[in-house]
Amino acid sequence: MNILVINCGSSSLKFQLIDMTNESVAAKGLCERIGIDGSRIVYSPAGKDKITIESPMPTHTEAIKLVLDCLTDKENGVIDSLAAINAVGHRVVHGGEKFADSIIINDEVIKVVEECNELAPLHNPANLIGINVCRELMPGVPMVAVFDTAFHQTMPPKAYLYGLPIKAYKEYKIRRYGFHGTSHKFVSKEIANYLGKKPEDLRTIVCHLGNGASICAVDHGKSVDTSMGFTPLAGLVMGTRSGDIDPAIVEYYANKEGLTLAETINVLNKKSGMDGLTGGKSDFRDLEAGYNEGDEACVNAIEIFCYNVARFVGAYVAAMNGVDAIAFTAGIGENSGFVRGKVCEYLGYLGITIDPEENAKRGENLTISTPDSKVKVCVIPTNEELMIARDTKALVEG
Ligand code: ADP
Repeated sequence: MNILVINCGSSSLKFQLIDMTNESVAAKGLCERIGIDGSRIVYSPAGKDKITIESPMPTHTEAIKLVLDCLTDKENGVIDSLAAINAVGHRVVHGGEKFADSIIINDEVIKVVEECNELAPLHNPANLIGINVCRELMPGVPMVAVFDTAFHQTMPPKAYLYGLPIKAYKEYKIRRYGFHGTSHKFVSKEIANYLGKKPEDLRTIVCHLGNGASICAVDHGKSVDTSMGFTPLAGLVMGTRSGDIDPAIVEYYANKEGLTLAETINVLNKKSGMDGLTGGKSDFRDLEAGYNEGDEACVNAIEIFCYNVARFVGAYVAAMNGVDAIAFTAGIGENSGFVRGKVCEYLGYLGITIDPEENAKRGENLTISTPDSKVKVCVIPTNEELMIARDTKALVEG
């Protein structure tokens, strides 16, 4: 079974064709600058060099047509015809409270996803365009929507309600939704599998540390709390996002800088976090280099980042009355032994000890805690596309 995974943004589209007989990637790629001059597709068939094709893509329809042309191309294609695509899995950012799991797409589902648009105005409309174009170009092929928020729908009200007038929740749907759910689901299952356990047997804390970063408490297979909130701005101090701040700062900063509310929120999303603290550095490779040179801003930024990860881990140990396993994942979590080591220095009270040699490795499932550590600490590379393909396969096969 071949599953096409589509992640459609407002001006870009990522795709992977996954052969589910062995879960291998047959081809993958990216369409960039959709609707903007200079659009192009970067296409990587497995085992061959990647190919870049400059081609006008005024809308997502041209982009998806180009993807399908690449996949079926005589020379560099990986399938003979579109009939070899058995199903399509679409990443959808926000499912609100309507979707607690992935779902087969039909007209009714599309209507409900549209109702969630106001909760993710930058993302959901683009995700829907991808769905509609694929339905048009591949009529009869089953399609599945996989939501970033769905995994967190198991959170109890004490974790998802804010201390606001209750109409904020009842009338305006303001609550903690949480994001990165597809990654947290994949990694929490994968770490259980790797440790020879079932997800239902473990209390796991997943640290998804990328440019966007969030932590999730997974209690016996279910998300019970997570650090992102109503939007992905909440929780950890991230690459360019502030994470949690005192909400009164918004008005104060806006007045000082002469900014509108929207402009201030933009600062919190795009010009804060590591980038804001250092005046322009958000890539951890640069931050680590600065740290090692003794650059004060880089030292502070990294210390703040690691301290905040450790604070959330501590909170989620309390939420689950203990923890059996901690997983590090995403760009920083998978690659930076430095950050992992610094975070774990705070966790000695849990009986955690780290093996520096194992912690220096990267790129594969691995255990970085010592055999006598009271909690298993592992690096588990995330794979959101594969999670989308697995959910799609399970639903399509019924
Ligand atoms: P996102 O999907 O949110 O854009 P990623 O999961 O791709 O983020 O992670 C991007 C982050 O991972 C960047 O901050 C980048 O610096 C960091 N990263 C990637 N490789 C390394 C590395 N070798 N060492 C430290 N950090 C790394």
